[in-house]
Amino acid sequence: MGSREQRITELEELIVRYQASYYNGEAEITDGEFDLLWDELKNLSPDSAVLKKVGTGPDVDGFPKARHLIPMGSQEKAANPQEFLVWAKKMGMEGSNSPQEDGNNDSALTSKNSRLTKRFIVQYKLDGASLELQYEKGKLVRAVTRGDGVTGDEITENAKRMKGTVLKLDIPFSGGVRGEVIMTHDVWRNKYSSKANCRNAANGIMRRKDGQGCEDLQLIVYDTADPKDGGYFTDEILKMEWLEKRGFTTAETKVFSDAKEIIDYRQKVTDKRDSLAFDIDGLVVKDVITDTEDLKRARPEKQIAFKFELETAYSILREVQWSESGATYTPIGIIDPVRLAGTTVKRANLNNPGIIRARELKIGSVVSVVKRGEIIPKIEGLAPTEQPSQTEEIVFPGVCLTCGSTLVDAGTRLYCPNPQCSKRLLHRLEKWIAVLDIRELGEKLITQLFEKKRVTRIHELYTLKTEELAEYDRMGELSAGKVIRHIQTRRNLSLSAFVAGFDLEGVAETTMEKITGAGFDTLEKLRRAEAAELAQVYGLGEITAQVIADGLKECAEEMDAVLRTGVITIARPAAQETLTMRGLSFCFTGELKSMKRGEAEERIKALGAQAKSSVVKGLSYLVTNDPASGSSKNKKALELGVRIISEDEFLAMLSDKGEKKDLPAQWELF
Ligand SMILES: [Zn+2]
Repeated sequence: MGSREQRITELEELIVRYQASYYNGEAEITDGEFDLLWDELKNLSPDSAVLKKVGTGPDVDGFPKARHLIPMGSQEKAANPQEFLVWAKKMGMEGSNSPQEDGNNDSALTSKNSRLTKRFIVQYKLDGASLELQYEKGKLVRAVTRGDGVTGDEITENAKRMKGTVLKLDIPFSGGVRGEVIMTHDVWRNKYSSKANCRNAANGIMRRKDGQGCEDLQLIVYDTADPKDGGYFTDEILKMEWLEKRGFTTAETKVFSDAKEIIDYRQKVTDKRDSLAFDIDGLVVKDVITDTEDLKRARPEKQIAFKFELETAYSILREVQWSESGATYTPIGIIDPVRLAGTTVKRANLNNPGIIRARELKIGSVVSVVKRGEIIPKIEGLAPTEQPSQTEEIVFPGVCLTCGSTLVDAGTRLYCPNPQCSKRLLHRLEKWIAVLDIRELGEKLITQLFEKKRVTRIHELYTLKTEELAEYDRMGELSAGKVIRHIQTRRNLSLSAFVAGFDLEGVAETTMEKITGAGFDTLEKLRRAEAAELAQVYGLGEITAQVIADGLKECAEEMDAVLRTGVITIARPAAQETLTMRGLSFCFTGELKSMKRGEAEERIKALGAQAKSSVVKGLSYLVTNDPASGSSKNKKALELGVRIISEDEFLAMLSDKGEKKDLPAQWELF
């Protein structure tokens, strides 16, 4: 087992696979993890053909291809301060020599050197998707993705919708401007959290044929050149100033001349990276003064990526517990306590049975546990150390602990297939209550109702009466009445929210939005669609498509019964001309007098606007009745120049924008 050749083949296969998934916008692993595989292969087989390719772009998108103007190479990498110092010394950076060497320096020479102190710019290394804007006489003519490093996809129309793209420059410049397309954490949390991370989401959205969602992306630039006429900036500071003058958003840049200061700065940035607005995975360090020849190289010598260290620890896997959520059983590893990223970790995610088998994990194995950013720790695989000879197989549960059905092991998911399984039914009720935000109906009460078999299906919620509820858990008529009132509040739900409320194996509302956005915009159309048709929706995948098709059949009767109550209706697909608030965004803070915050959000969404949970750059309006309060949202809005409006102004805007007068009636009980 595990001969060198085998490992090389395995690494090559993994790298090719992850590269393909990366360029399809569905990266399965982080950049840091990818680099570890890359470095391991480089050690074992430095001449492997796989290492020579920058990456293989997909041809499936059907975008026209275009060549890059600025040569796109790869960068030298340093994974830790030691590696960085090797490069810094080669560059002649101050502070990169060991103290003895410094001590041995002739004093005259030292003072001479200090006059020639080299300066380096240090920039955030953005974790997004690379994009080159091409200008002719100051006009944006093309935008090209990374692709294979020489040619990429031309996504000009999509790029025009992104924040930070300058359509027309103030000077007749011809040449390229390169940057990174990123998604902020805020946008990801509010709209795209079904994607693994911001980078995946940005990658997927920028390649959508219809360009939808590109306005949620932001371009941040760091390079420019006019290679046709030999126009390269050879001073990085002037280059950044030039870009800013042209109206671009540039990557955070600092200037240093001492290697130790750069190492300290990296530590500072590492400490605060979770609180940054977007993901970065390290710093880029460049000699301020460079030359055209170096910039043309596949691997420019005068710059390096100084990456963050992955937070990894080794521990022993002692036990596997299976956590149930709805129908799914998820393996959680119990490990010997270990310090990781400042916390003690005892439990770590094993994701699914497929991973346990593929990584050959056993009880007693020494495993590597990884924690990156806010993600919960996960067991990545066997640690690259000697493994104990005595290990035990991990036992998978065979039957559902709730209903006794034989579990289905689908590799990426272990689940109870019984549609009547009470675990699954209760989870569905809880999901519905969450989607409708009926906070008064708590977990305890719904569990009681479920156990007494009074409510096992969603539509049965609508048959509850105040008197009977009052008897539950000494509830009293007053609060029982409140619960019933909220259940019976008429709601006009979007089709996405309605279907997501039925908890089809955890299919999220954002996933459903993709499907409705692709034209399956009525319940009838959805029901008529075959799984294969749904799978055509960009970014959906066959497994999810099948889950949705099956779930719609399984829940058909229950859905009809809910609609028959008349309390819940599905909103008609919005005609384009009714989206009068498209492009606007609102954030609500504090109490509103006329409605709940959730209602306000649904009403602006119906008109095509976005609801934000926090004040971010580019937000159109902050709605508050207390603009004088010193709340952080108010302060941030003032700082960013976001318009602050009162509830009355907001209501006036709603009626101005032609919101149909009958809509508020659906909220009459509030
Ligand atoms: Zn079951």
